[in-house]
Amino acid sequence: MYKTITFIIVLIIVGNGNVKSQNKMDSKTKKIVIAHRGASGYLPEHTMEAKAMAYAMHPDFLEQDLVLTKDDVPIVIHDIHLDDITDVAEKFSNRKRKDGHFYVIDFTYKELQQLNVFERFDPKTKKAVFPKRFPYGKSHFRLHSFQDEIELIQGLNKSTGNTIGIYPEIKNPGFHRKEGKDISNIVLGILTEYGYKTKSDLCILQCFDEAELKRIRTELKSNLFLVQLVGRRINDKDLDEFKTYADGIGPSIRAIIKSVDNNDVTYTDLVKNAHARNLKVHAFTLRADQLGKIPSFEKLLEIVFYGANIDGAFTDFPDKVVEFLNK
Ligand code: CA
Repeated sequence: MYKTITFIIVLIIVGNGNVKSQNKMDSKTKKIVIAHRGASGYLPEHTMEAKAMAYAMHPDFLEQDLVLTKDDVPIVIHDIHLDDITDVAEKFSNRKRKDGHFYVIDFTYKELQQLNVFERFDPKTKKAVFPKRFPYGKSHFRLHSFQDEIELIQGLNKSTGNTIGIYPEIKNPGFHRKEGKDISNIVLGILTEYGYKTKSDLCILQCFDEAELKRIRTELKSNLFLVQLVGRRINDKDLDEFKTYADGIGPSIRAIIKSVDNNDVTYTDLVKNAHARNLKVHAFTLRADQLGKIPSFEKLLEIVFYGANIDGAFTDFPDKVVEFLNK
């Protein structure tokens, strides 16, 4: 009896982590929070610091955008260019292409390690894109590989007992192919190596390129949970096609909310039509400092999660969204 009670108390104290790990799929059935580029509302996007901070905010997934280096290392960075988050123009001024951009793919991983990473800025004006966020040019941040970030997240899962997943995005597969590289194949190899193989593993793979995501399912035979990002207008026929290879779609919140006029919100049929095909909807991007016509962040969250009934969202402010959904 004594032992049983102690056991129950220990279970209660250890709490969430253990309960969650008994049901790995849980995070794909409830409404999920995806830390967009980490806690990017507070620290420079995609830095290890932004990821550690995001992790401590208890989202369900941390996002990684992936681009290959010259020596085939996938690094975690949003663009195929280095121009607007690093000091590449000062450190390697003679390495830009004719179009004026510095490309990740023209540098080895070792070279990229020499760059300082900053809060996102406009390279022409040197002004921060989000002026209320972490000050541009301050402190000391570095680029890192996909493997380093997986090891950070898996390490924290071990040391904290939480079960937070990864949500990698394959960036510009067409560009990589033109440069002679098969980014999807390389990324899938790394995912397999780190134990992400099936839909029940804590990984969701995303891509905007429709032919490439289909290829990942068919030709590359991935069994992962796949989300088709969509940046264009889509119709029922598109959704029928996505359904043949994907488990969900990732539209912009602008494709979900038709109009907002004071308290009168109207919605498109996208979420309903996706749900009718058993596709999850993970929308991007919820930003507390970019609200447009919506009066508050809380109101935006009400609109997308309960008005539009999305299944998850990418956010630069994971703490605020986690707090909202816990209420
Ligand atoms: Ca992304």
